[in-house]
Amino acid sequence: MFELEIPGWGKLSIKNLLLDFNGTLALDGKVDEQALFLCSKVVGKYHLKPYIITAATNPVSKEVIDLIKPELIVIRPGNEAWQKLTVLLELGANETATAGNGANDKLMLSCSALGIAVFDGEGAVPGVLDSADIVVKSTVELFELFVYTKRIIGTLRR
Ligand SMILES: [Mg+2]
Repeated sequence: MFELEIPGWGKLSIKNLLLDFNGTLALDGKVDEQALFLCSKVVGKYHLKPYIITAATNPVSKEVIDLIKPELIVIRPGNEAWQKLTVLLELGANETATAGNGANDKLMLSCSALGIAVFDGEGAVPGVLDSADIVVKSTVELFELFVYTKRIIGTLRR
């Protein structure tokens, strides 16, 4: 469990990482090596359960599956934002951190304990930035938040 007390904001108690794949974890289907390493480190350190949720624009590579050992959730075309939200609610929104960049990520980002918008090589839909708690500009920075946790505190404290 990843726990963090944020002054004036509240306490985070995260058990699950729910990650959009294309545009968030991966660019053109490939995951940055450093990001993949950081992700596996964070997952191992806090015993987080990783979930990759994808509309399967590009398939999830064997390397990612072997290293992170995520549960893969493939959504169907149509009502994608609702499908992602439904998965979040089943996992428990209060104990799940989400990351995404697309229009279908907005609901899960706004309803999760910690929503992180990733504005990397694929870009991000503008509304995703408003739906998130934190916006980062790379997949590496996404996982660095869980390593350098004062970044989360510094951004969210009120
Ligand atoms: Mg995406």
